[in-house]
Amino acid sequence: MINRDTQLIGLIGWPVEHSLSPAMHNAAFAALEMNWHYGLLPTPPGAVQATLSRLKKHGYRGANVTVPHKQAVIPHMDEIADSARVIGAVNTIVIQEGRLIGYNTDADGFLAALREAGFEPAGRRALVLGAGGAARAVVYALAGAGCSVTIYNRTVQRAAQLAHHVQKQGLRSPVTWVPITTTLSDLELSDFDLLVNATSVGMWPQSDASPWPDSFPMPSHWTVYDLVYNPMETRLLAQARAAGARAIGGLGMLIHQGALAFEMWTGMMASIEVMRAACERVLVERMGQGVTGHQPDLG
Ligand code: NAP
Repeated sequence: MINRDTQLIGLIGWPVEHSLSPAMHNAAFAALEMNWHYGLLPTPPGAVQATLSRLKKHGYRGANVTVPHKQAVIPHMDEIADSARVIGAVNTIVIQEGRLIGYNTDADGFLAALREAGFEPAGRRALVLGAGGAARAVVYALAGAGCSVTIYNRTVQRAAQLAHHVQKQGLRSPVTWVPITTTLSDLELSDFDLLVNATSVGMWPQSDASPWPDSFPMPSHWTVYDLVYNPMETRLLAQARAAGARAIGGLGMLIHQGALAFEMWTGMMASIEVMRAACERVLVERMGQGVTGHQPDLG
């Protein structure tokens, strides 16, 4: 129950109603018997400044930021951490003495999920599909961890821009992109170890779509990481398993970026298991209501 001692965290985005974050964080607060509450702050385009003022006025301890505001909040921050500056997006705000400090936990959350699933990126080669906001964090994380990256995106210019941006950061491993004159059939697929889907293809309600054409067999030594987590079992993951490759769904990244944010706000470690169970519970409930697509793999 919220009372005047409750410490508040909010989610800034538009729309935000389907987010798993309130269930995930409120379960973690409850497990630690903390009087904290994570709520939604639906913020239409153009209203970012008003929401940030509201956070300060009502004494919020922090916030998450999601689509479409991860870049729009940057000019309003009093301080930006290196992670957010380099990636060019803020997904976590910590409020200290009325000052807004912007961080990005997506890159570290992705790496934590990848390693938790048993894939160590150092010295490996990744093919990343997509060049949007999530791809920025993934490419930065992989190159920083010593994994060379090739970006393949529908809009080639965006892939080139992202590669150039990341190359300038002087990270450990090279980042290139697939030029317009090249198709998947020109790539030596067996040279890669990791395929990451950072596009929105395969997300509910378009759950029958996959960013990977069936006509290109996946090498069985691949690890396939799909950032999409609704549905938990995407068509891309099914294709990977059918090819004998290892398949990892996007829920782990969501949970780990959340756990890192939780620690920044509270100074406490959240239980990954509690967060995961809360997310799975919501997804299963929604599946029953027809709000998600496939039978989830709760493995
Ligand atoms: P975004 O900035 O809008 O980028 C979307 C990307 O998908 C772009 O590269 C876009 O290509 C590509 N794309 C969209 N429709 C396509 C199609 N029909 N065919 C080929 N490519 C297509 O979105 P985002 O924020 O990066 O999010 C991408 C996905 O990652 C979403 O599913 C999101 O839910 C997921 N995500 C997951 C986590 C997690 O914690 N697991 C975190 C963040 C995001 P163009 O450049 O050509 O438009």
